[in-house]
Amino acid sequence: MIAVDKIYLDNAATTQIDEKVLEEMQRVALENYGNASSLHSLGQNALEELEKAREKTAKLLGCKASEIYFTSGGSESNNTAIKGAAGKKLIVSAVEHPSIIKTAEFLKENRREVVFAPVDEKGIIKLEELKKEITSETALVSVMHANNEIGSIQPVKEIAELCGEKVLFHSDMVQTAGKLEIDLHKLNADLASVSGHKFYGPKGNGVLYIKEDTKLDALIHGGGQENKMRSGTENIPGIAGFSKALELAYKNRETEMQRQEKIRDKIIQSLLEIKKSKLNGHEKQRLSNNVNFSFFGVEGEALITMLDFEGIQASTGSACSSKSLKISHVLKAIGLDHIWAHGSLRISLGKNNSEKEVEVALEKIPEVIEKLRKMSSVKI
Ligand SMILES: *Cc1c(COP(=O)(O)O)cnc(C)c1O
Repeated sequence: MIAVDKIYLDNAATTQIDEKVLEEMQRVALENYGNASSLHSLGQNALEELEKAREKTAKLLGCKASEIYFTSGGSESNNTAIKGAAGKKLIVSAVEHPSIIKTAEFLKENRREVVFAPVDEKGIIKLEELKKEITSETALVSVMHANNEIGSIQPVKEIAELCGEKVLFHSDMVQTAGKLEIDLHKLNADLASVSGHKFYGPKGNGVLYIKEDTKLDALIHGGGQENKMRSGTENIPGIAGFSKALELAYKNRETEMQRQEKIRDKIIQSLLEIKKSKLNGHEKQRLSNNVNFSFFGVEGEALITMLDFEGIQASTGSACSSKSLKISHVLKAIGLDHIWAHGSLRISLGKNNSEKEVEVALEKIPEVIEKLRKMSSVKI
């Protein structure tokens, strides 16, 4: 790992690529640079790399190689799944990533029936309400495996069962691939999205799992690569890097997740000592690397900026709220009011974070919050 002089606590946004992944990508890019569609041996060598990566990925995710489709990442996989499913009605959870929410809103504007399924105050989907929404008109249900902002883990097994054989079930597994065990066949999902840069792989590489015999339209038409589902010359160095990163993540998964969980719980304990603070998301049913807090009367954006001055890289949690002052749709869905929702801080751990770094951050955070509260017009 190349050390950077910052404490990086934003691993849910992206991670630093692993050097072993980069080496693998360089090897493939320089040695097997052919086009996998070419008939000559360099092309065939590239095709071999591609199929090797597909086999490896399938094994790690519990499915067949022929069910793995390489894409440009989580957003493309999500778009393909949602736009590609024919049928009238779509149900997506209210706390999905923008690449699902915005796609669903787009389809709604274009004459599709879309329902945003509610979650409880801990961010877990309300199964009874979801069940009521599933009708003979429903083509697809999309519920993420775990939330990127508040870390809540959804009961995907139960949701898959609710969908049964008639309704397609898609799950955005971008935050859980490499962190939780994933067995797509056992889960009986029809579609699932994964992205490489969330587990120390390259940005711009992901996977869409499509269960055998699932009817889905392609998003990108052309040369017919990826079994006609995703045209365009394959990014084989990226794909090789993706599968290498996934392999490395699963090699050491349990020990690493236990380590992060211990640090996570220490952070939660420590931040709860700050007055008028609140943990967002589920206490136990949450990602090992996720902490999301609200501090009453603090502006999340100001908190992130001040922490940055101190060398600490964190997030408010939402891609939308980090650039505009709109509150996060996730915090709104769990019922936070404006003042609490504005004061959010997400800390997302990664394999390169040490306990020492976290100690430093935990000293700085209360100081910065106190400073901001002194300047705030909101009465604490
Ligand atoms: C990051 C993320 C995405 C988007 O993945 P990209 O590869 O960056 O397009 C989708 N869903 C979730 C839950 C994410 O965290």
